[in-house]
Amino acid sequence: MGLDPLGLEFDSYSVPEVTDELRQQTGPSYRLAISSSSGKLRIQAPTTLSLSEVAERARVLGDKVVLSKADIGVIALALDLSREGKRPVIVSDDYAVQNVADGLNLVYQSLATFGIRQRFNWVYYCPACFRRNPTGDLEVCQVCGTKLKRKPLGKQRAKRN
Ligand SMILES: [Zn+2]
Repeated sequence: MGLDPLGLEFDSYSVPEVTDELRQQTGPSYRLAISSSSGKLRIQAPTTLSLSEVAERARVLGDKVVLSKADIGVIALALDLSREGKRPVIVSDDYAVQNVADGLNLVYQSLATFGIRQRFNWVYYCPACFRRNPTGDLEVCQVCGTKLKRKPLGKQRAKRN
């Protein structure tokens, strides 16, 4: 949909089904090819465990009929990545994708707001005493001196402008 992984400051992932969906479109598939050959985009198949978990959750939520194989694959891959300790952010404007992601406690952003740093709602927190730093302009915890970590604020509906 126009997202350029080369412009991102973090690793991006996609699933083989997305490559298949983009095959007939010159622009997106060209960006996909360049990005994956440069190592900025990893094409990775989700585990069958995550695939069935996502399909089951989608069925419960009633969203399964509107999700494509690629949609389910992307959510399942995010589930795999979060199990590896990463903090994936699913980029999709699809309400069904966002709804299922939300049901699995996965963070998502709509394409319109993704990658725009100031709109990214980071929360800074102390990994030792879990205090939040509301201003986000300190590097260490004021209580215990531990270096702060940050994570995208989840469970928030992305709003279109
Ligand atoms: Zn602390």
